[in-house]
Amino acid sequence: MSEVLVVRGRMPTRTAVAAQKIYQSYRADLKRDFQGACGYCGDEDVRVDAVVFHIDHFAPKSRFPDLAVSYHNLVYACRYCNVSKSDHWIGKDAAVHHDGKQGFIDPCSEDYEKHLQRLTSGRIVGKTELGRYIVGKLKLNLIRHELLWQARRARKLRDEVERLIDELEARGKGDGYGHHELLKRYRSLSRAIEDYELRAYV
Ligand SMILES: [Zn+2]
Repeated sequence: MSEVLVVRGRMPTRTAVAAQKIYQSYRADLKRDFQGACGYCGDEDVRVDAVVFHIDHFAPKSRFPDLAVSYHNLVYACRYCNVSKSDHWIGKDAAVHHDGKQGFIDPCSEDYEKHLQRLTSGRIVGKTELGRYIVGKLKLNLIRHELLWQARRARKLRDEVERLIDELEARGKGDGYGHHELLKRYRSLSRAIEDYELRAYV
C-alpha cells in the first residue's frame, strides 16, 4: 500500500479571528489553525511546551511593520524554521511573495505542497527551483525534520500495536506463539526511542 507523503500532515488554514493589539496574543488562534504543527516543516508542538514554538511573520515585520499584527501574515512555526527564515524577503513589496524562482510561499496556500515534497526517508526536498530555494532558506533538509517525521509514523504504528496487545490480553495471556512477548518488546523499545524524540523536539 503506498502512502501519500506530504510535507505537513495536514493543511493549515487561517480562520477569521478577533483583531489583537500585539501579535503574541494570536498564539492560541495560530496553534488551532495550524493544528499544533509548524506551517513550514510540519513538526508538531505536542512534545514540548508550546511556548517553544515561534510566531513567524511571513512578510518580515522588520521590513513591513504595518503587517506586524496582521493575523493573515502570521505563521505558527518551529524555531528552526523561523530562525532560518529570519528577515529574508525578495523585493520591497509584501504582496510579492516570490518571482517563481526565489522567495516564499504562504504555508496556508495550496501552492506550498506543489513546490515541496517528502521522500520516504522523511527528507523534505524541493520539486521546483522555487521549492529548492525554500528548502535552502528554511533549512528544511535538516535531519531533525526527517527524524521527527519518522517518529510520528512510529507512534501511529505503536498505537496499533498497543491495541493488538490489549486484544491478545483480553483473550487470555497471549497467543501461545510468542507474538505477545514480541509485541511487548516492540512497545518497550518504541517508548525508549520516544525519549530521544522528546529531546529532539526542543
Ligand atoms: Zn518548522
